[in-house]
Amino acid sequence: MGTAKIPFNKPSMIGGELAHIQEALEYGQLSGDGRFTHLCNAQIAEKTGADAALLTHSCTAALEMAALLCDLQPGDEVIMPSFTFVSTANAVALRGAVPVFVDIDPETLNIDPEKAAAAISTRTRAIFAVHYAGFPADMDRLAEIARAHNLVLVEDAAQAFGSTYKGCPAGSLGDMATFSFHETKNIISGEGGALTLTRPDLVERAEIIREKGTNRSRFLRGQVDKYTWVDIGSSFLPGELIAAFLYGQLEQSDSILKTRLALYDRYCEAFTDLEAAGRVTLPKTPPDTTGNGHMFYLLMRDLDDRDAFISGMREAGIITPFHYVPLHSAPAGLRYGRSAGDLPVTNDISARLVRLPMFFALGSSIETVIETARSWLQRNP
Ligand SMILES: *Cc1c(COP(=O)(O)O)cnc(C)c1O
Repeated sequence: MGTAKIPFNKPSMIGGELAHIQEALEYGQLSGDGRFTHLCNAQIAEKTGADAALLTHSCTAALEMAALLCDLQPGDEVIMPSFTFVSTANAVALRGAVPVFVDIDPETLNIDPEKAAAAISTRTRAIFAVHYAGFPADMDRLAEIARAHNLVLVEDAAQAFGSTYKGCPAGSLGDMATFSFHETKNIISGEGGALTLTRPDLVERAEIIREKGTNRSRFLRGQVDKYTWVDIGSSFLPGELIAAFLYGQLEQSDSILKTRLALYDRYCEAFTDLEAAGRVTLPKTPPDTTGNGHMFYLLMRDLDDRDAFISGMREAGIITPFHYVPLHSAPAGLRYGRSAGDLPVTNDISARLVRLPMFFALGSSIETVIETARSWLQRNP
């Protein structure tokens, strides 16, 4: 066994990251909201089609900002899938509000809009939709539901930078969206994230919340002559070294997207016959969407089959993790949230899903992953 031959993820530099860090040092500002933060904000707004983008130190931070912008009060409810990362729910629970977990669609693994509609109560204030594996949720239907009930619609687009729905990029599909630049995502800065907004009326308050509840952003633009504490907020912005690194990645975002999509297509092609034979199930592209090659997964027969596959791959030095532990059954999910009815699809999928290595520099190692996985599947029919 020993160390892994092929890890699940490996962060890589693609272009000008180090040069930009050098420039930031020479420029002389290492705190946030300097030259590179502004370059990143502009680039992210352009790529996502949002009115404004604000760099944050993580998607978790952007989700917390979204929860503050929704003005959630204790006891308010936010509808979200249980099949997501903990940060989607934490942001809501931190406001004293209640995450209400609904089931996902078995084909798209995204929130089932009809289950979301059925979970609405008088306390519901928002829907947090997750674009799982980078494929956008059914945003038209969700927007229709949100409009009818006066709810804020937030995209947890942590995984979806560069994806589209009906030709529009993730980040332009709800009232606001949150992105992650964690090293496991497509565009990276170690830790990092952004909040994007499609509602101009929310931008000024978002800037204030991000700058410790002060109007410092207006001050820096010369719009007020001193800055002061005007609202609640926290420190949600990254320093310039992170922004400089990230800008090097954003400059290469088209090439990163192309590389990942090619890897994704290769994986799909490699397992098509085994899907036809009923051995595994492959991800499906939801109607009207394009993905970004964020993740490739296989659905195995059941939990035992999945765990045996993971062990078999690990013995060959290849790391293939699973996720998520559904939030509705996690200890904090039970304490802070509630389920809207049973969640059979979430329970089923989370027991059977396994992710294969996927990162920019995977290169021809993808063939080793494919050969190893195919040979295990053929030995365990
Ligand atoms: C990665 C991820 C997050 C958290 O992102 P960070 O930048 O690590 O805070 C939130 N939601 C989803 C769906 C994610 O995949």
